[in-house]
Amino acid sequence: MKRAVVCGAGGFIGHHLVALLKSRNYWVRGVDIKQQEFEDSAADEFELLDLRDPEACKKALACEAGPIDEVYQLAADMGGMGFIHSAECEIMTNSALVNIQMINAASAANIARYFFSSSACVYRDQPIGDNYLSEDDAYPALPDNEYGWEKLYAERMARSFARNRNIEVRIARFQNCYGPYGTWEGGREKAPAAICRKVSSAGDGGQIEVWGDGSALRVYTYVSDLCEGIYQLMQSDITEPTNIGSDEIVSVNELVSTVAEVAKVHVAVKHIDGPVGVQARYHTTDRIRSIGWEAKVSLREGIEKTYPWIASQVEKDAL
Ligand code: NAD
Repeated sequence: MKRAVVCGAGGFIGHHLVALLKSRNYWVRGVDIKQQEFEDSAADEFELLDLRDPEACKKALACEAGPIDEVYQLAADMGGMGFIHSAECEIMTNSALVNIQMINAASAANIARYFFSSSACVYRDQPIGDNYLSEDDAYPALPDNEYGWEKLYAERMARSFARNRNIEVRIARFQNCYGPYGTWEGGREKAPAAICRKVSSAGDGGQIEVWGDGSALRVYTYVSDLCEGIYQLMQSDITEPTNIGSDEIVSVNELVSTVAEVAKVHVAVKHIDGPVGVQARYHTTDRIRSIGWEAKVSLREGIEKTYPWIASQVEKDAL
């Protein structure tokens, strides 16, 4: 039985990743500064630790039963565009500290394999109709926000350890991920969760506010597809950063209509000023496809799984 530590297991993707690893017969320790809010963790052990602290990182990786085989580093101070634009100092400080301390601790503990969760935010902004970007197009670097710069730095940090300290590193650049058990209110939620919440709150005939004119193009990846990609990449020989994302590119307006269709309601959309982020994202997935991965869940199917959960949270909240 392999042993894994998932950092950020109290968060959205980490929580789902723990469940996937358990289904593949791993022993799993989840680590986070907070518990998962919405569902019990499937982890064998769950440690509440602040991974900015080197001693906490050491503790996260200590295991009396035997060595930890794989570390999945998903802990980050992060959120949707609203958070990314308002919390630059927190992101640049907290996420960088976690990434610096965790790779140092993993190397010191002789961890064989280390996964780092990077982001499509390492790429530059793209106009609509631009070329597809491959992984190499992250350079010359011009991320659109500080979150992307921190991710690029952390990628380089992890890769320098891979070159010099005998630790295998795998890096995935995620496109937007969505699904149940993710943040859906409070300012850190991402667009799919925010739109589901707004549509559910507005109800049939209501109105919702959407930042920008809705023309921005995005790739939304359902959480089970992303976790499968993380797992397959971790088992692979790919040492270069690797894009993981669905092939469906949709506008924010199309996301809104998909959610409204699934909710079976009509909503009016009021476009307001707000932190939209980049205009478009076009990325190649040849590298992750070369090991047999492909996205299986369409946006429509993913929203059909996500919307009822968010609508139930909205309902609970209203009581
Ligand atoms: P999330 O916010 O739900 O999970 C991150 C977790 O990290 C949280 O539970 C948080 O408490 C934890 N954390 C933060 N600071 C910590 C600290 N000091 N010590 C211990 N734990 C700490 O985010 P997510 O959506 O699950 O994202 C997981 C990873 O994937 C992150 O690194 C994120 O940047 C990356 N990513 C996510 C997306 C997406 O669309 N969700 C896209 C690109 C990249």
